[in-house]
Amino acid sequence: METKRVLVTGGAGFIGSHLCEKLLTRGDDVICLDNMFTGRKDNIRHLLGDSHFEFIRRDVLDPINVECDEIYNLACPASPVNYDAVKADKISVVGAFHVLDLAKRCCARVLQAEIYEDFGNVQASPNGVRSGYEAGKDMAETLFFAYQSQYNVDIKVIRIFNTYGPRMRSDDGRVVSNFIVQALKNEDITIYGDGKQTRSFCYVDDLVEGMVRMMNSREEFHGPVNLGNPGEFTMLQLAELIIKLTGSKSQLVFKPLPSDDPLQRKPVIDLAKKELNWEPTIPLEEGLKRTIEYFKNK
Ligand code: UDP
Repeated sequence: METKRVLVTGGAGFIGSHLCEKLLTRGDDVICLDNMFTGRKDNIRHLLGDSHFEFIRRDVLDPINVECDEIYNLACPASPVNYDAVKADKISVVGAFHVLDLAKRCCARVLQAEIYEDFGNVQASPNGVRSGYEAGKDMAETLFFAYQSQYNVDIKVIRIFNTYGPRMRSDDGRVVSNFIVQALKNEDITIYGDGKQTRSFCYVDDLVEGMVRMMNSREEFHGPVNLGNPGEFTMLQLAELIIKLTGSKSQLVFKPLPSDDPLQRKPVIDLAKKELNWEPTIPLEEGLKRTIEYFKNK
């Protein structure tokens, strides 16, 4: 079989860097494109010497011109801290046009990753804090399906739920990184609201495996498919577990709940099980241990 050339946009980010690593292990040639806005050189430093790995520092807002067989589009700033809705929208929409045009030109298969945001039974307000991100992602998804039906572009769409693991940014405000950093420093652990809201956390290796399976799924299957770990934990349980695993002296402190913070976010993964024969394998405790090791060494 010929070596595949795979483009990963956002490849120096938390998820992107793990994906690049996995593709290299599979024997692919990997082109990592990142503007280093939230991506970091440290995430890919160990790959830079690999002759099958190429790093291009560029924005998806610029048209992309590389020859490739597959594209994973992961470029989007999604951090809840210093969130810039205009920028996020622009990157989602303009980035989608650019990767789709490239896929059309190269006859490449293209996978779009969306961070899944749903507000449960609550109607998402058009001017809620994260709404720019949602609108941009909705538009991007619409474009993907339009390119598929109009130009027969080979598309795959996934929805990513809460993911954690080594190389998460310590400063992006996510609950797992916040709690681990606070616990390691014996600082107060900040629980937003009463801490009874639940999330379902997927270890990054499991997610990346699902992404690769989706990319290699049967041609007629476009998704969207949910990729996440349905195991559900309250933020209080998460805090207790992290305190236990780090042996921390941290205390819990309660802060106001951000607006539009859903009580539950839990993926239904029946479709991924059926189509991709995929489900997560790494339990929260195991994944947290590996993540804690990473933050300890930082
Ligand atoms: N959260 C918290 N303390 C923190 C950061 C987050 O209690 O220091 C809560 C947050 O309010 C939410 C949950 O943890 O209910 C998950 O937050 P995150 O931003 O990681 O993911 P998302 O809300 O996007 O699912």
